[in-house]
Amino acid sequence: MSVAWWRLLRRLLVFLLGALLLGALVGQWQLALGLAASAALVWQLWQLYQLERWLNSGSQAMRPSRAGAVWNGVFDHVMRLRRQSRKRKRKLGRLLEQFQQATAALPDAAVLLDDDNRLLWCNAASRRLLGLDMGRDSGRPITHLLRYPGFVAFLGPRREPDSIEFPAPVDDGLLLSARIVPYGKKQRLLLATDVSRVRRLEQMRREFVANVSHELRTPLTVISGYLETLLDSDDPALEVWRQPLRGMQQQAGRMLHIIEDLLMLARLESQRERSPRRPVAVPTLLADIADDAVALSGEQNHCIELQADQGLWLLGCEKELRSAFSNLVFNAVRYTPAEGRIEIRWFADDSGLHLVVADTGEGIAPHHIPRLTERFYRINRDRSRISGGTGLGLSIVKHVLNNHGGQLHITSEVGVGSVFSCDFAAELRATPPVAPLPCRVSPTGQGC
Ligand code: ADP
Repeated sequence: MSVAWWRLLRRLLVFLLGALLLGALVGQWQLALGLAASAALVWQLWQLYQLERWLNSGSQAMRPSRAGAVWNGVFDHVMRLRRQSRKRKRKLGRLLEQFQQATAALPDAAVLLDDDNRLLWCNAASRRLLGLDMGRDSGRPITHLLRYPGFVAFLGPRREPDSIEFPAPVDDGLLLSARIVPYGKKQRLLLATDVSRVRRLEQMRREFVANVSHELRTPLTVISGYLETLLDSDDPALEVWRQPLRGMQQQAGRMLHIIEDLLMLARLESQRERSPRRPVAVPTLLADIADDAVALSGEQNHCIELQADQGLWLLGCEKELRSAFSNLVFNAVRYTPAEGRIEIRWFADDSGLHLVVADTGEGIAPHHIPRLTERFYRINRDRSRISGGTGLGLSIVKHVLNNHGGQLHITSEVGVGSVFSCDFAAELRATPPVAPLPCRVSPTGQGC
């Protein structure tokens, strides 16, 4: 107990004893004690009243004086708390101001949503990009404010992919990319960025590559044609030129191949030109590709085995699928030493439809695998060039699979071989007009 309390108790005791003595002198000690106790109580109540009035009168009001040591202590304590609270308030105010300035300066829209997807708060950029207004829209469901079709599904618990692109509600010319991040207790932050410029630049790059490829194709075809005519000629004067002409024809062919692949990639990347999906007879397609692979293998005499579920067709674009599957099979031939084994399997299981191309080739070191689908990424540039590669094959495979909602999985071990697996969703399964029995096909007409 503090000194002030002892002093108060002592004073109270002296006061009550004094009253008791005085009362005893006049023969009314109970009355005197009762009056003294009431007076002490009234005094304390008065101090309490003063404190309550002072607390209600705001922080600037003068504190009551002459309140006694204990009450002075209480007043001092409250004043200290008030000062601390004022300081904290000022600090929080400054922080809030800084936060508001920072969010106002953000070029991206930031929208805070509760667990019912109702708008709790949004920054200044949300008005410019999403047409939201804190005063008008606070508490309203975001799905009533942003009505883009895929957006509601995107807000759901299973968010795939992790961002969505849609035209800005305030301006069709703006393309926004939105992401959702968990925030605080059951709240979520919707972040929307203007990606129009990036997408425009990507489009320009795609168009540039497509235009250049297109412009180069005609002169190169003409040059190839002339070279072929010259090589077919019996003119003895051309005999000394035969070797260089062959080299020129080979290089022109390679350039044409690259141009064809670049045009294919440009077509695949262009969303507007996405080909319609039709049932594709994958077993027949694979049999054709396997025959071509046998021809490509030639004297290397690879053992190429095809195992395809004949009743399994795929909803997709035949041209794109042919390009993707042949790239995988031809790669297996090109990167597998002579007499090696190449297995092509087409089947369905619980997880979907799968094309697996496995070889016993040179294999790929693990650090190369994540980068294989990048354009012109080659493990060994010279090796790829000699074998007729363009460095675009797996990039085409990835884009074709993307367009079909599929995925490419690569596993490989150096010196043992590689397995490339294309996985499609079960919904893409199509049945042939008359389903034949499953059978095993070997492109060479015989087992290996
Ligand atoms: P390329 O035209 O050079 O073959 P791709 O995009 O088809 O280009 O393949 C990229 C690289 O991946 C190739 O250069 C090669 O090194 C490697 N690769 C692809 N398929 C295989 C395979 N079956 N076995 C080993 N390496 C492979």
